[in-house]
Amino acid sequence: MRPITHIVVHCSASPNGRAVSAQEIDAWHRQRGFRRRAPVGQPHLPHIGYHYVIDVDGTVTEGRSLGEIGAHVAGSNARSIGICLIGINRYTPAQWQALQQLHEDLARDYPAAQWLGHRDFSPDQNGDGVIEPWEFIKTCPGFNVAEWIAAGHRPHSQNVLEAS
Ligand SMILES: [Zn+2]
Repeated sequence: MRPITHIVVHCSASPNGRAVSAQEIDAWHRQRGFRRRAPVGQPHLPHIGYHYVIDVDGTVTEGRSLGEIGAHVAGSNARSIGICLIGINRYTPAQWQALQQLHEDLARDYPAAQWLGHRDFSPDQNGDGVIEPWEFIKTCPGFNVAEWIAAGHRPHSQNVLEAS
């Protein structure tokens, strides 16, 4: 296993409450040129950059295995794990519950890793200038991850999507 210093929470930047499968994310990441170099598990997802996807019903799908370097945060992939919440800034109670469970499980295995949102990473000032619409690094994942943990896994009401 590689050393892990950060666990990074993302959003899919798709409409809140609309299901998106890991397979669809894999297709998006194929278009961006991502490719797993030495896949371990999930051979039907050869491009996906994240390690976990949390769909609107709370289902957690594994993407890259934890030993694989992801493709989700420029400059910080080597020592991080990437988690993608489906939506853009409002997540279902099932998604919050699943994220809490992942936090508890991964905190046990990687107690020194710092949890952050994608937006907490500085953008690459020397990058190619292409900002993909599903990334929106300035806001992704639409809430403050450290605050959510400090609040005992209690999200702000504005970030909760209740059933309509
Ligand atoms: Zn992101």
